Amino acid sequence: MYDVALLPGDGIGPEVMAQAEKVLKAVSKIYNVEFNIIKMPAGGASIDECGVPLTEEVLESCRKSDAVLFGAVGGPKWDHLPMEVRPERAILKLRKELDLFANLRPAFLIPALSAKSPLKGEILEKGVDILVVRELTGGLYFGEPKGIEVRDGERVARDTLLYTEEQIRRVARIGFKLARSRRKRLCLVDKANVLASSRLWREVVSEVAEEFPDLELSYMYVDNCAMQLIANPGAFDVILTENTFGDILSDEAAAVIGSLGLMPSASLGEKGPCLYEPVHGSAPDIAGKNLANPVAMILSAAMMLDISFGLKEISEKVKEAVARALEAGYATPDVALPDSKIISCEEMGDVIISFIEK
Ligand code: NAD
Repeated sequence: MYDVALLPGDGIGPEVMAQAEKVLKAVSKIYNVEFNIIKMPAGGASIDECGVPLTEEVLESCRKSDAVLFGAVGGPKWDHLPMEVRPERAILKLRKELDLFANLRPAFLIPALSAKSPLKGEILEKGVDILVVRELTGGLYFGEPKGIEVRDGERVARDTLLYTEEQIRRVARIGFKLARSRRKRLCLVDKANVLASSRLWREVVSEVAEEFPDLELSYMYVDNCAMQLIANPGAFDVILTENTFGDILSDEAAAVIGSLGLMPSASLGEKGPCLYEPVHGSAPDIAGKNLANPVAMILSAAMMLDISFGLKEISEKVKEAVARALEAGYATPDVALPDSKIISCEEMGDVIISFIEK
């Protein structure tokens, strides 16, 4: 029995989460695994119900669970609130409190949807199957000192890009382990020709590489990587990188595969539950209309089955069912092509389940 904390959130969050929940129920029936699903409010839904984006009780339940499945939070209703109490604090607090330091974003091109990619067919011929492993706790977003001050009558601003070797080592180990289960190649993306922090990344990552002699390690400057992701995305397997570079490059990788609605993610820590969520937000423009693409949410649940519960085969079945549904021409409006069978969010959930059952 696996305890799953389910936090649907706001906007399309509950709509796509309902499909992931249906998939878990179907999987439970077919493969005889039990999930104890504990549904709780987060983000705007929690502000409306409890006055804060994430209550201590919900946080405690997440801590005690085996994994956290998160939808999306935020929306215009709460945009007037101060930053510290906005819905988005829910996910930031969860990442911090659960000590999640490695963010995994797989970008996999479904051949039937290659026309949705902004890249030319000849560039996509080799296929695209990239895993971006982004460090989540260090770098410019958290380094101190930071801020704006006045010096000699002029405003100056600074941010600090700080990494400890332990922060680098722990995420590097995760990157290498994942590369081992894939095509055995890891590329460290940095700016070691300019940044001291990047030089430390190279030193530490090459030390960790000695624990993984069967894997190939390469290095690439971030500016070149931004270019290569467009010019030759098929060349990448695992990309390991620091927080800011990973934030930008993983969005670029999402654009390469065609839609935000297709991209899942996982955030891992050393111990305790991991968190799984689609890369997209709460999409207020389409919320409540049964139009959202549930694929990113369902693939996030598939990552949970594999990484947190070790149910690799079942996870593969779910991923396969998603690919087959899309290959068969079923599509929500965001991924529709001229000859697609356009269906709703709920129907997409049902079609994917029918392929799992086949
Ligand atoms: P968004 O990802 O919600 O939407 C961007 C665009 O992509 C929209 O046009 C939307 O309709 C479309 N889209 C997104 N997901 C889709 C899906 N599953 N199916 C079909 N179309 C989809 O980003 P945004 O508009 O910048 O942000 C909206 C709200 O979401 C904001 O309040 C923002 O703060 C929040 N947000 C939350 C998270 C999170 O919870 N982790 C992440 C990003 C943004």
